[in-house]
Amino acid sequence: MINKLLDNCFLTELNTTVTDVEQEQNLYWYAFKETVFFRKQGGMASDIGVINGSEVLDIKLKDNKQWHLMDIEMQVGDAAFMSINLHERFRKCQIHTAQHLISALLCNVYKVETLSHHVGDDENEIEFNLESFNDKMANELMVLCNGLIRDDLEVSIQYPSRSEAVSHAPAEKLNHDELRVVRIGSLDYNLCGCMHVPSLRYLQMVYISGYEKTSRGYKVKYICGDQLLDSVSRRYKVLNEASQTLALSHLYLNTGINKLMNEQKALSRDIILWKQKYFTLFTEKLMQNETELLTYEFDDIDVKSLVQLAQYISSEHHRPCVLLAKLFDKCHVAVAAPKDSDGDCKALFKELAERFELNGGGNEWLSQGGGVYTKALSDYVKTIQKI
Ligand SMILES: [Zn+2]
Repeated sequence: MINKLLDNCFLTELNTTVTDVEQEQNLYWYAFKETVFFRKQGGMASDIGVINGSEVLDIKLKDNKQWHLMDIEMQVGDAAFMSINLHERFRKCQIHTAQHLISALLCNVYKVETLSHHVGDDENEIEFNLESFNDKMANELMVLCNGLIRDDLEVSIQYPSRSEAVSHAPAEKLNHDELRVVRIGSLDYNLCGCMHVPSLRYLQMVYISGYEKTSRGYKVKYICGDQLLDSVSRRYKVLNEASQTLALSHLYLNTGINKLMNEQKALSRDIILWKQKYFTLFTEKLMQNETELLTYEFDDIDVKSLVQLAQYISSEHHRPCVLLAKLFDKCHVAVAAPKDSDGDCKALFKELAERFELNGGGNEWLSQGGGVYTKALSDYVKTIQKI
C-alpha cells in the first residue's frame, strides 16, 4: 500500500473520516479514509501531529491499514482533521534527502556502497565501505553537494513499471508489487518509501562536519538545512558566552584557553612550593611539643594535604603522629610512624575505626580513613599517647 499523499512533503493538513476503530485499554486505534501521517520506515521517524486537536500517540500498520493511536473517542464516519508538525517534518525530509545526495555522490565517485545511516538531533552520519577518506575528500564532497543545491536539481517521485525500473536498478531490488522511485535530477535513481523535499534548494546547505573510521569503512558526518542553522545557533551561543567570560573574540578563544592552562600549571607548582614551606613551619611548631607522639586537629586542610603532612612528619622528622581533619560533618584521620620505629599504625587505626565507625586502612607505617566527625573522636585523639 503506497500512500501517494506522502509524495508532497508540504501536504500537512487533511480533512478525512474515521473508517475503523479498535479500543486498547483506555486508548483507541483509528484508521481513516486517507492519512497524511508518515509511519516510521527506512530510518525516518514517524510524523508528529494532531487529529481533531488531539495528539497522535503512535502509528502502526495492521491488515494493510495504517492505524493511529489516540486518547479521544471517535465513531466510524466521524469527520477528522489531521495536522502534522511541519517544522519537524521538513527538517526530517531535508536530512533524508541530503542522505540521498551524499550517498549518490560518494557511490558514483568512489564506487562504494552505503552501509548504514543514522539521524541524530545535532548531527547525522552515513557509513560507506570506503577504504580511505580524508579532509580533501570531505571538502570536495561538501563543494559538490552545495554546487548541486545551487543548481536546484529536481527531486521527483515516480512509480515505474518493473521493466522501466530494471534499466536503472539491480533486479533483486525490484521484487515489490508497486515500485516507488526517488530521483535527484539524473544523478540518482533510488527505490525509497520515505518523504523528500521537492528539489535540492530546500536543503539550503550541507555541511560535512567530520568523518570517522569504522570496522567496515568510514562514517561521514553531515548537518543540513534547518538542523544546520539550529546547530550553528547553539554553538554560537556557547562561543559567545566563552568569549564574554575570557573577553576575547571567538577566533582567539584557544589562545586564551592555552594561556589559562599555562597559568594554572604555574599556580599548581607554586602551591606545591608554598605547601612545602607551610609543612616545614608547621612541623617546627608542632615539634616543640615534648610528647613522643604528635597529635593535631585541623579544620582547614584537605585530605590529600593531611596525609602528605603525616608522611612528612614521620619520614623527615622521625616522629609518629596522629592527624585529624574536620571536613564539615565528616572527618579524616591519618596515622603515620617512622619506618624504623616499632609502632603499628594499622593496629591503632583499626582500633579507632572500630570505636568510631571509620572506613579505611593502610600499613604499619601509614594508615588512614574517614567517617562522621564526632566530639568523642576529637577528644579521644588528644588522649593517644603512643602508636
Ligand atoms: Zn528516500
